[in-house]
Formats: sequence, structure tokens, C-alpha cells
Amino acid sequence: MTVHIHPSVDNGVKQGSGHFAGGTLICKCKDKPVKVAIKGDVAHNHACGCTKCWKPDGATFSVVAVVPRENVTVLENGDKLKIVDTAAVIQRYACTGCGTHMYGRIENKGHPFYGLDFIHPELFQESGSAAPGFAAFVSSVIESGVKPTDMAGIRSRLKELGLEPYDCLSPPLMDAIATHVAKAKAA
Ligand SMILES: [Zn+2]
Ligand SMILES: [Zn+2]
Repeated sequence: MTVHIHPSVDNGVKQGSGHFAGGTLICKCKDKPVKVAIKGDVAHNHACGCTKCWKPDGATFSVVAVVPRENVTVLENGDKLKIVDTAAVIQRYACTGCGTHMYGRIENKGHPFYGLDFIHPELFQESGSAAPGFAAFVSSVIESGVKPTDMAGIRSRLKELGLEPYDCLSPPLMDAIATHVAKAKAA
């Protein structure tokens, strides 16, 4: 059985250049695509198995990274963007033409990840942005229809790709969340 994770990693994870200066995210519309400028490189790039992140057709995981929100600028056709779920913690701005999520923003100033926007680096027209380094919320792909019996194969493929599978976020990110919570409690 061939295990598909995501088209951008299925043939091996392509490492970033280490000096990506930023680029333009483009949605899938042939006509009037939404373009979003990103300044600088992405951080914490990873494969995500949650049900909320946008995935291209046929992908089991999304590939998602963060950038400082001030580094995100809608360049063209921003009138096509609409928030997928205004009640969600992350307000995901999707193109109403093709459904592609262009960026996700947290408006709750108390949230551990406030100040970071979530983007999908595969939408860059340029290559060289930092590669995914782990896989998050792996067990959640079952909620999207993956058979539980396929999970062992998926986890071993992720390991083979160098994307250590976690059923929450990676330890450094979980530590960052807990640190934020501890500081908030102490204050
Ligand atoms: Zn579009
Ligand atoms: Zn996700």
C-alpha cells in the first residue's frame, strides 16, 4: 500500500534554502487569484492531521507553518477572502472561488500563539521556504475518514520522511503553550 501524506512531501521532504526572504502565496483560481505577500521565512512548518487545516485534494495531512502577523499582506483580490468559521480560535481566511485557505489569524490577545498567522507554504510561487519538521495531530486523520488500521503505516511513513509523528503539537510547541499558561496564572 502506498501511503500518501501530502503532495509536497510524498516524494521526500525538500529542505529549505535557509535564507528564504519571503514570497507570494497564490490561491488555485485561474481567474483573479488571491495573492498574499509574506515577508521572511516561515517557522514551525509541519504536517497537520487536524480536521480544520486546509488540505489540497487527495492529501491526508495539511502542511502548515507560522509567520508573524505583521509579515502578512493581502496583495490582490482580497475581496474574495472570507472567514471560514468566525467562531473558531483561528480565523481562517479562505478564497470563496477555490476554497484555498490563504492565512489563519488569531484575534484573542490571550492566546499562546497570538501574533502568529498560519499559512500553507505550498502556495508560495517561490521555492526555498523552511521545510516541514514534524507531524502534529496525527491521530486526528481518523476523524477525516482514515481507517484506524492504516495508522501504523502512516506513522512509519512519517518517520521515514523525517516528520516525527505527534498526536498533539511538537514538544517545543507544547512547552511554549504551557509556559504561556504558567505565566498567565502567575500574573
Ligand atoms: Zn481562489
Ligand atoms: Zn491543523
